[in-house]
Amino acid sequence: TDNLLAIKGLKTHFFIREGAVRAVDGVTLSVPRGKTVCVVGESGCGKSVTARSVLGLVDEPGRIVAGEIWWRREGGEPVDLASLDPKSEQMRRVRGGEISMVFQEPMASLSPMYTVGAQLVEAIQLHLPLDKDQARERAIGLLRRVGIPRPEQRFDAYSFQLSGGMCQRVMIAIALACDPALLIADEPTTALDVTTQARVVDLLRELQADTGMSVLFITHDLGVVAEIADEVVVMYLGTVVERGGVDEIFHDPKHPYTKALLGSIPRMGAGTRQRLTTIRGNVPHPSDRPAGCPFHPRCDSAIVGVCDAAEPPDVVLGPGRTARCVLHEHDRSSLKEVRI
Ligand code: SF4
Ligand code: MG
Repeated sequence: TDNLLAIKGLKTHFFIREGAVRAVDGVTLSVPRGKTVCVVGESGCGKSVTARSVLGLVDEPGRIVAGEIWWRREGGEPVDLASLDPKSEQMRRVRGGEISMVFQEPMASLSPMYTVGAQLVEAIQLHLPLDKDQARERAIGLLRRVGIPRPEQRFDAYSFQLSGGMCQRVMIAIALACDPALLIADEPTTALDVTTQARVVDLLRELQADTGMSVLFITHDLGVVAEIADEVVVMYLGTVVERGGVDEIFHDPKHPYTKALLGSIPRMGAGTRQRLTTIRGNVPHPSDRPAGCPFHPRCDSAIVGVCDAAEPPDVVLGPGRTARCVLHEHDRSSLKEVRI
């Protein structure tokens, strides 16, 4: 397979006085070249920490304790980002030079002290040997490209003069400044109103198609997943519980958690307004992970004495298709291991 990014057995733990919080506890996933992979799960499942681990942006007292993060850019030697010092020159080159990240709060990510144009020019000049005028021209081109009207005027605007949606477009322009091979978007639409959300998702989809970059898109919103994903990774309490193509996940989900998540979204166009079913119980805190299958207290299919006793196997159902659940133990494909 032609994976630009391949994460294998990643564990990122937070060391607090009470002990280790296993926020990410054995995550394996990959991002093929030119594809969009969505990581979906409720808050606290470790999806953001997984993303931040890739870029060496895990906050104290967190630390990668195991696993590999293979970055395979075209024409370069594969490099294991998990083995790099987050502050090293090499990691700095990857971060913002080859992999860009867009976050949830566009207002907070932009400085109120400088114009959006100045911040964009700074990002461009960090990566490209352009003089001020050339950088300004490229900046205006990028603002136009992310759908900002009258970009010559907006170049001189401050973030507080722009709407949340416009700020997120500026952040996306900044992320594109270095022509990244991979864009990591962590809940980029969550803070926006519904109409703006849809426009930003459309924009990201267009940009992905135009540039051929890969996208790792983190969200809790299955509607967004359906729109943008080629492949889906479902996370629960620090582990990947299911992986598959977007059609497989939506039309043939295997894991009880995925089924429950899908059952909780209202069906569109069904004529009547359907009641939202929610998954019973709450997500436990990662420091309080249930024994056995971490989903067992909320699982309608749980087998007493089995699911609460041992961690379920990660069953390979086909290429790029896995489910971590005892119910599928006998559905193993002939593949011997998870291929990343
Ligand atoms: Fe449910 Fe058991 Fe499967 Fe966990 S292993 S998802 S508890 S059936
Ligand atoms: Mg998050």
